Amino acid sequence: MRIDILTLFPEYVDYILSESIVGRARRAGKIDVRAHNIRDWSEDKHRRVDDTPYGGGRGMLMAAPPIWRAWDAVSRSGREESGAQTSRVVYLSPRGTVFTQEKAKQLARYDQLILLCGHYEGVDERLIEEIVDEEISIGDFVLTGGELPACIVADAVARLTDGVLALPECHEKESFEDNLLEYPQYTRPPVWMGRAVPEVLLSGHHANIEAWRRERQIEITRQRRPDLLEKTEKET
Ligand code: SAM
Repeated sequence: MRIDILTLFPEYVDYILSESIVGRARRAGKIDVRAHNIRDWSEDKHRRVDDTPYGGGRGMLMAAPPIWRAWDAVSRSGREESGAQTSRVVYLSPRGTVFTQEKAKQLARYDQLILLCGHYEGVDERLIEEIVDEEISIGDFVLTGGELPACIVADAVARLTDGVLALPECHEKESFEDNLLEYPQYTRPPVWMGRAVPEVLLSGHHANIEAWRRERQIEITRQRRPDLLEKTEKET
């Protein structure tokens, strides 16, 4: 899988995605993540990429031409250098559909993912119409830029990519699988601050452990995210 991030702050994105599991996977060649500075495609002598919005109003907008040239170069390189046959262009935006684990799974099926980070008041609408396949939001709030959202999407997608997690089954029993949140987990010591680990987990009885975990998952999901259980009911 190759992930290209188009941004005004490539070092910021690169730094976050160089740590921990994703960083190790990148260094091991399991995933190819490249951060590109949109200013490199500006034709302005001051490398400007923003301008005032037509019709007036607050703030500045990112102009279409440099972003289009950046997208053209990275999508061509995806095909020619990395052999990508399928690709998806995502603009991170508060206006987008809210990101979910299901969406991460869909995106992980593409050979190349191009993530566009907005800044200022966003980007020229014509650029979105021309190259963007979908807009994704990471929640109902407004951030200063698309860099953190892009890192969130890249991280969620990367860990679903073969070879990134040491144990592939790690993500098979996590929150949102089967529309359920994860069960509580414990490690040593068996008693801490007067709180004992539930007996069943020390029993070694796998069927009982599985049943206990399933019950906790349903209980926690009912308390915190009843909408997920309703989703399951609708699906069945
Ligand atoms: N004027 C825009 C609006 O009202 O929808 C907000 C622009 S925001 C200040 C600048 C950039 O941050 C956006 O173009 C987008 O890339 C990113 N951004 C901000 N909040 C986001 C969110 N919740 N999810 C994804 N991207 C976000």
